Amino acid sequence: MALVVQKFGGTSVGNIDRIRNVARRAIATQKAGNDVVVIVSAMSGETNRLLALAHEVVKVPDAREMDVIASTGEQVTAALTAMAIQSEGGQARSLLGHQVKVLTDGAFTKARIKAIDGSKIFDATKKGEIVVVAGFQGVNESGDITTLGRGGSDTSAVAIAAAISADACEIYTDVDGVYTTDPNICPSARKIAKISYEEMLELASLGAKVLQIRSVEIAMKYGVPVHVRSSFNDAPGTWVTREDKSLEDVVVAGIAYDKGDARVHVTGVEDKPGVVAELFGALAEKNISVDMIIQNATKGHNERADVTFTLPKTDLARGRPFIDEVGKRLGALEVRYDEDIVKVSIVGLGMRSHAGIAAKMFRILATEGINIQAISTSEIKVSCVVAAKYTELAVRALHDGFGLEKTVGPTP
Ligand code: ADP
Ligand code: ASP
Ligand code: MG
Repeated sequence: MALVVQKFGGTSVGNIDRIRNVARRAIATQKAGNDVVVIVSAMSGETNRLLALAHEVVKVPDAREMDVIASTGEQVTAALTAMAIQSEGGQARSLLGHQVKVLTDGAFTKARIKAIDGSKIFDATKKGEIVVVAGFQGVNESGDITTLGRGGSDTSAVAIAAAISADACEIYTDVDGVYTTDPNICPSARKIAKISYEEMLELASLGAKVLQIRSVEIAMKYGVPVHVRSSFNDAPGTWVTREDKSLEDVVVAGIAYDKGDARVHVTGVEDKPGVVAELFGALAEKNISVDMIIQNATKGHNERADVTFTLPKTDLARGRPFIDEVGKRLGALEVRYDEDIVKVSIVGLGMRSHAGIAAKMFRILATEGINIQAISTSEIKVSCVVAAKYTELAVRALHDGFGLEKTVGPTP
């Protein structure tokens, strides 16, 4: 007998018929001899609706209250799913984050899980119940409701799977696996049969929202086998697992893109020790994480430099007055903001042992007439910032330029 965690995303619980499907799948999994824990997201569109309501009241809502409202989406689906299981003849019980309990730190809207108590879950499965846990939510030490960041139900699922030592964690979504790139913008994208935690971690952190990055970190840390698959059919999906030799043969495994960042230019600051330390130290104090950073000497201004960096658009409203102020303090000539950017990235374990991959990426973009505004690299990825209007063109050109439409991932 196995213990299986099944997570259903927003589209998979998007209406009552679909919730009934989820119920039937959970019951069938239990009847096949397994203990089943279901994790649900809010119905598709619901979290956006709730956040928009908050923003109607105030431009920068209080983070604690934001989590009180955002967590309600999952509360609704958890109860509906438990009822659907009961109405299909099964036994079920819903549990909210604080009931489980999923203990997190106090960083509202982007909390991190510190510990999970599996005892209430085991009490229920022992009685033959299917446990339906509301994803995305937890509780901090003081008893406040917290949420885990957008896409956080993936993390709830993997963390619960790790905490209860589940045999597998199935992530049911609206595509039937992890593809070489987002199949919704690149028609020639191919399903990957098996991908390493490392590559999935990069793809997730670079914008492939099919799995939240934290969920992949936890899966990697605790060795949870994750199976990403469709809730609309029984086709095998993608296994996210430990690296093995066969996966290293693929130079570029996937392409990701992320429109979530904005670019800030701080021009003409003094070119002397301590300036960037002050700028980024000040941002860090405000808990604003910066991604790419470029510094270069200003043309025609001796001893002056330009600093360009990217940060999440979601931090921009909060950070902007503050960045303007630090810019002034540093004697900047101008602070400019650009939200129309996208970061496109190529990811692959094989980059460790192959040279010239970045150069090839730059050439492919140049051939399409796409100007590169910033670049960053690591061992297994290269990212370029380009104008947002080139998103589809850049992704498709890189996907086909690296031959991904032909290289099917190694089979498990
Ligand atoms: P859920 O609501 O089930 O959590 P998400 O919308 O969060 O689903 O994630 C699934 C979506 O991720 C897909 O519809 C697809 O548009 C997007 N996506 C981006 N990159 C990839 C990729 N490489 N493979 C599969 N899906 C991807
Ligand atoms: N409902 C939350 C969101 O939309 C969490 C999730 O779906 O994973 O971000
Ligand atoms: Mg998601």
